[in-house]
Amino acid sequence: MRIDIVTLFPELCDGFLSASILGRARAKNLFEAHCHQIRDYTKNKQKQTDDYPYGGGCGMVLYAQPIADCLRAVQDQCAAQGRTKPHVVFLTAAGQQYNEETAKRLASYDSLALVCGHYEGIDQRVIDAFGDEEISIGDYVLTGGELASLVVADSVLRLQPGVLAEEKGYQDESYWDGLLEYPQFTRPEVWEGRAVPPVLLTGDHKKIDAWRGDQSRQRTRERRPDLYDRWCETHPLTEAPKWKRGENMRLVKTEEQMARAAELMAEGRRTVCSPVCTEEQLAAMTPEHWRPDLDAERKNGWAFYLHYNKVGETDAMVGVCHKTGMIGHLFVTESARGQGIGTKVLDFARKKLPEHEHPTLGVLSTNTRAISLYKRMGWRLNGVLTVHDPAQGAPFAVYCEELRMRFHG
Ligand code: SAM
Repeated sequence: MRIDIVTLFPELCDGFLSASILGRARAKNLFEAHCHQIRDYTKNKQKQTDDYPYGGGCGMVLYAQPIADCLRAVQDQCAAQGRTKPHVVFLTAAGQQYNEETAKRLASYDSLALVCGHYEGIDQRVIDAFGDEEISIGDYVLTGGELASLVVADSVLRLQPGVLAEEKGYQDESYWDGLLEYPQFTRPEVWEGRAVPPVLLTGDHKKIDAWRGDQSRQRTRERRPDLYDRWCETHPLTEAPKWKRGENMRLVKTEEQMARAAELMAEGRRTVCSPVCTEEQLAAMTPEHWRPDLDAERKNGWAFYLHYNKVGETDAMVGVCHKTGMIGHLFVTESARGQGIGTKVLDFARKKLPEHEHPTLGVLSTNTRAISLYKRMGWRLNGVLTVHDPAQGAPFAVYCEELRMRFHG
């Protein structure tokens, strides 16, 4: 790949591209980089590159002509090397926001020209005439496009074959697959009283990969819900985890099972409501409190199922309503989490409602973990079922909403 940077500060850009990992790769000819001085292409005696803006206003604007001539020279050099016409990117604060997807796309060009503005910017006519796209590296304003062009050059060049020691080096990193990277640790094992997570010392790569995957998803969900949302929609769970031998779902029929369902419901409500309720409110969520609700629902067409693990313990429940196509009371006990039981139980419940093409369920807006899982299982947000507003008498400490999700498949 060949990269050309068109700038008023070529030595600054060149210095960066000659240092560290990129410098070594450049010395090995793994890519070609050229930094061009815009001033060299001026046609006035003073070698002036900018002028006052038409229409008034503060600052100066870079002339179109020297930039155009510089880009023409770059095009000629590429043609002389038998390369394709360079893809031209203008770095501007008003451009499309840059991300790893764009880096991957730009990395596929044989030749890329990056144009750096300065002062108030660049005469729009040269951008319109030569630019294939405008890129911004973030929602802030820099004094010049040099840092922005180097951000683009660095993120694009590190994707070129051979620049990083291993291809896996970039495939594991944040944003590659739409997720943030898991946390990294190196020696010593304990630093100032802080130990490395024990799983990383086991040497069990299956376990380590699973832990890193969990960390990646958890971090992205917490720090970048926007990215996580997109990731969930593009990474569906195509198959529910396999049922273990001896594990099964049983319809609640006996009084003993009904009492257990009320216990699980109470535990479930306390867990789900803990971010939005006071200790006192949570303490009131007892099995006795919920039992009348379960009895009434059962009379109204609901069926409840308990999940039995392979040693016969009940560790999850779910309810389905054949009349309305609703699924509810999905809960997995704390000790049974992380084994895919929630996924299996929801899949089971949905299949219990074959007469409803698009079953629905309710989920508290604060339960982002569940919402993400449901999205991966083909459920989509579909309005608000209930608003829990303490100002309107809801028995909650914090305003929240119960969202409706609908199965789309
Ligand atoms: N007047 C411009 C505006 O309000 O959008 C800002 C000009 S800025 C002071 C000077 C140059 O820095 C721009 O022409 C552009 O090349 C570069 N620049 C500033 N912020 C940038 C950003 N967020 N991303 C990419 N380039 C940026």
